[in-house]
Amino acid sequence: MTFLDTDIFAQIIAGDIPCNKVYETDTILAFHDIAPKAKTHIMIIPKENLVTAKEVTPDNTALFGELFLAAKEIAIQENLEGYKLHMNVDEEGGQVVPHVHLHLLSGDFKTGL
Ligand code: AMP
Repeated sequence: MTFLDTDIFAQIIAGDIPCNKVYETDTILAFHDIAPKAKTHIMIIPKENLVTAKEVTPDNTALFGELFLAAKEIAIQENLEGYKLHMNVDEEGGQVVPHVHLHLLSGDFKTGL
């Protein structure tokens, strides 16, 4: 798969594409993955339209940290004892959706990320 032309996650944030939301703050949105690779597979995204994790800078580390805080809080909310956090970075890193996202996966893991 290659990078998509459009930022479909920005369209989810805007409410133009529906999602199965599990968590939201002023800066973060999380929703179930449409093609789950585990029993629980959740996308955690910043509402700011950052394309890849290469855009991390000393000025936005707090926002990237909020992705991990959200993962912890969602795991508690969803009663997940253990989980994997995964991030693909850029096309060569397997990223398809051009919007930063952290995969939260738990249980019955499948291959294909
Ligand atoms: P990546 O390969 O890291 O870019 O992962 C993108 C993820 O977004 C994949 O696991 C897709 O299944 C998921 N995805 C694509 N479109 C949607 C959507 N409309 N709602 C929820 N998840 C989606």
